[in-house]
Amino acid sequence: MGYTYDHENIFAKILRGEIPNDTVLETEHSLAFNDIAPQSPVHVLVIPKGPYVTWDHFIDAASDAEIADYHRAMRQVIDKLGLSPGEDGQGYRVIVNSGAAGVQEVMHLHTHICSGRDLGRMIPNEPK
Ligand code: AMP
Repeated sequence: MGYTYDHENIFAKILRGEIPNDTVLETEHSLAFNDIAPQSPVHVLVIPKGPYVTWDHFIDAASDAEIADYHRAMRQVIDKLGLSPGEDGQGYRVIVNSGAAGVQEVMHLHTHICSGRDLGRMIPNEPK
C-alpha cells in the first residue's frame, strides 16, 4: 500500500526547527522529545527523521540503518531515563498508534514511551 506523507504535519515542522520541542536525545536518524500533553510522568515521543507515516510504512521504506537507529534511540531513551526493569527501573510501555483503528493523530511515525505511574491495562475492558 502506498503512503502520502504530509510535509506540513506537526512533527515535520519540529524536524525543520519551525516549532520548538523539548529534546530528550537526538541520533543520526531519530529524535526523542517530551510529549506536549503527557499522559504519564514520563511520556517521550521518538520519531524517525525521515518522512514515514506509520510503522509499517517505515519498515517497508526505510533503510536498515534508519530502522536500527530508531530502535536504538528508543533504547537510549529508556537508558537515559533509567526505566529498564532489568536495571532496577520501574518499567515502561511502548505504544505505536497506526492509522484510523490505532487512533493516530499525527501522521508521522512516532513511538510513545510512557512510565512513572500505574498505566493500567493495555486496552480497557469494554464491550466489543
Ligand atoms: P498519536 O495519537 O499517537 O498520533 O499521538 C500524538 C501525540 O503527539 C500526542 O500525545 C500529542 O500530545 C503529541 N503532540 C502533538 N503536538 C506536539 C508537540 N508540538 N510537541 C510534542 N508533542 C506533541
